[in-house]
Amino acid sequence: MPREIQIANAAGFCFGVKKAIQKAETMDRAFIFGSLIHNPQEVARLASLNKKIVHKLEEVEDNKVVITAHGLDINVISQMKERNLEIVDTTCPLVTKIYNEGHKLEAQGLQMVIIGDPKHVEVKGIASRMKNPVIVYHEEDIPNVPEGSRIGVVCQSTLLMEKFDKFVTLLKARCAEVVPVNTICKPTKDRQSAAAALSRTVDIMVVIGGRNSSNTHKLADTCKMNLPEATYHIETAQELDPKWFEGKNKVGITAGASTPDYLIEEVIAKIRSYDSLVPA
Ligand code: SF4
Repeated sequence: MPREIQIANAAGFCFGVKKAIQKAETMDRAFIFGSLIHNPQEVARLASLNKKIVHKLEEVEDNKVVITAHGLDINVISQMKERNLEIVDTTCPLVTKIYNEGHKLEAQGLQMVIIGDPKHVEVKGIASRMKNPVIVYHEEDIPNVPEGSRIGVVCQSTLLMEKFDKFVTLLKARCAEVVPVNTICKPTKDRQSAAAALSRTVDIMVVIGGRNSSNTHKLADTCKMNLPEATYHIETAQELDPKWFEGKNKVGITAGASTPDYLIEEVIAKIRSYDSLVPA
């Protein structure tokens, strides 16, 4: 009997990433500032189409530069303008929404707190637009928020939903006033909810996506809550191990927002090839 393979109801490319890739693909050649998406295989495919990833402005050998779906530090954008570079901005509208929410909170006189990875380009972009933000990523960062302060809270678009709620509770215990705006984007919420639901009904979960992809890591974390011993995060089908599937008849699959469909299809095909290993 073949294994049952189910794909989460929401998985793979989100509209923001899809739009950014389509835009870059329309250009004859493109210099993309930072990872357009956090998926090494898709980045390599784009490189083969003359879309070069650069990390310094000196590396841009054209008068055009592409800003990625995650947005960019506003100071770097100013430097691009000083160099008279034409900016092709593929910042996701849901990232721009976070900037706007932050500005609205600051207009209320609140100190901004951003929950997210301070090394991530999206968080750097949000922080660069706020007056004097405090970034909290680990619980140990909470004491950096001034005690008794009035704060507005936003978060990285791909944050784990449980983490946002937990951190807001911790901040409420410390601050005089907390105005939280949950800025986790809908595609991320949909992917997390679908992964959680599927991981409750299967024997094994395979999570496909870049190791540098924040939202893929969070999907894996979500699945591990239900299947701590049987959740595997892989980038490509080559990493699959047939031993993982021994005695497992129901396989769940999910994929991060930067994972192209062809990688998902390759994984499914490889798992199908293990069907003969199902005990009779
Ligand atoms: S993960 Fe969300 S915020 Fe990021 S590009 Fe996709 S839709 Fe936009």
